[in-house]
Amino acid sequence: MKTYSKREFLKMMGLGVAFMPFISCFGNSNNNQAAAPGLTKDKEHPEDPKSGSATPDDITKAAPGDVILLTRSDAAYASFNTAFNARVKKMPKYIALCKTPKGVQMAVAFAKQQKLPTAVKSGGHSFEGFSSNDGGLVINVSQMKKITWTANNMVTIEPGCLLEEIQAALFAKKQLIPSGSCGTVGIAGLTLGGGYGFFSRKYGLTCDSLQALDIVAGDGKTYHSSGKEELLWACKGGGNGNFGVVTQFQFKTQPMPATFTSIVLKFRNLNTDHFYTVLSQWFETTPKLAPEDFSAFVLNGSTLTILCTTYGNNNNLERNIQALTGIADTVNKSMNQNLPQAMKRYYGRKGPILFKNASAGLYKDFGDIKAIATQIFNSVVQNKGLIYQINTLGGNINNTDFEQGSCYPHRALPYLSELQAYWENPAQEAKLLKAFQGIQELILAAGITAQYRNYPDINFKNWQQAYYGQHYAKLQTIKGQYDPENLFQYPQSITL
Ligand SMILES: Cc1cc2nc3c(=O)[nH]c(=O)nc-3n(C[C@H](O)[C@H](O)[C@H](O)COP(=O)(O)OP(=O)(O)OC[C@H]3O[C@@H](n4cnc5c(N)ncnc54)[C@H](O)[C@@H]3O)c2cc1C
Repeated sequence: MKTYSKREFLKMMGLGVAFMPFISCFGNSNNNQAAAPGLTKDKEHPEDPKSGSATPDDITKAAPGDVILLTRSDAAYASFNTAFNARVKKMPKYIALCKTPKGVQMAVAFAKQQKLPTAVKSGGHSFEGFSSNDGGLVINVSQMKKITWTANNMVTIEPGCLLEEIQAALFAKKQLIPSGSCGTVGIAGLTLGGGYGFFSRKYGLTCDSLQALDIVAGDGKTYHSSGKEELLWACKGGGNGNFGVVTQFQFKTQPMPATFTSIVLKFRNLNTDHFYTVLSQWFETTPKLAPEDFSAFVLNGSTLTILCTTYGNNNNLERNIQALTGIADTVNKSMNQNLPQAMKRYYGRKGPILFKNASAGLYKDFGDIKAIATQIFNSVVQNKGLIYQINTLGGNINNTDFEQGSCYPHRALPYLSELQAYWENPAQEAKLLKAFQGIQELILAAGITAQYRNYPDINFKNWQQAYYGQHYAKLQTIKGQYDPENLFQYPQSITL
């Protein structure tokens, strides 16, 4: 049994002493089972949370290299309680800072024993703060960052890895996973809700590259997904904090193209007519894109930016977007850049920042938003801080094998829209959020109901169908199998 001093333990967790002065660290335990029984299951009070319950010190004592339980009075609590979105403020009763799968098992057992509503946090980028809660337990796996190569360029990744860390590791081997572009987004939340980015029209969503996973489920048991096809299916698009804590992902990887090309088109001082013309042209042009190509249509005030990208030896992008470049005010080309370097340009801000972002519908084509396009434009122009964006999906995302292997339900919809609001002065928030909601209502009234789970909006009324389509009932059944007491919950979690 190894006993850790406070200083040793803080070092293990990668933190300065000044950061966590009140955390006690104690002896080790060899208990490798799912439940915390080794912690607290004394013979007299095997399960009763009231009479025989574990205290935060008990759980930390039992496996100090695996988990520490922070309470609000611990100095480190605040730093692990931050989220990328500064708007969403939660105060969990406990944060279980896990270093290993065993630590996660113990944290889940503790939550079960104490009957604590439990959330899971990896990269902390949930738009609506679904990786935390008020008064419950948050299982924080942000420190679990191992990346291990296995045969055939497969890679196992722990859930605390951020996209920039994964890119660094994979690009060094000239491989990649199709994922998002923001460097500080967590691979865990991204994959479990779908995940898309520059490479998705060629290689599918991030979840489509997922081959296997390990999860500590709400029933307290640890599962590997082999032979559990339905569990894997459910975690590919519906796995965010619904069934348990994923402690390891196994991905196939793709060869990394050496180069990346981006072409940025700007349209300034738009009026409604001009906006409408360019938008309709964008919808006419984007079906011509190759699977390697991607485009984003970003309206910020009366300035429109259209980003078009491609990579590798695909030289047709310029020809594919000719109709758009012909009408743009300016065209800025960065041809055949070194790909790893080029990716860093999209890493974005580190946060926390004040914002509200949400899915603003998945579309089939221009026809879906034609009738409301100018109203959206007027609202964005009138409300500084609002951004309306549409990204291309489609391509191989709409592949039948991928469709059957995952619960992501919107493959036939090749456009994903995202509404964004940013402010620095809290006094701006109410007006922006009102305008934001107004656009969301316009979109709903236009009959657009499909939404992306990784871009949640707390105000979606029929979120079950919006995120999961026809699969929601099956996901509920799977929830019942793996989390029968609904331990894992948040405002839009799958219910029993
Ligand atoms: C700046 C920014 C850029 C983004 N860019 C993209 C993009 O390019 N493409 C894209 O597809 N999405 C993008 N997103 C959305 C992103 O995919 C989601 O916010 C994602 O859920 C974040 O995952 P996370 O691990 O960082 O967040 P967290 O807040 O830690 O978790 C998000 C959700 O996943 C659950 N979860 C986290 N870890 C686990 C786990 N180990 N086991 C089970 N459940 C878990 C949480 O409970 C929560 O419900 C972006 C978001 C932001 C804020």
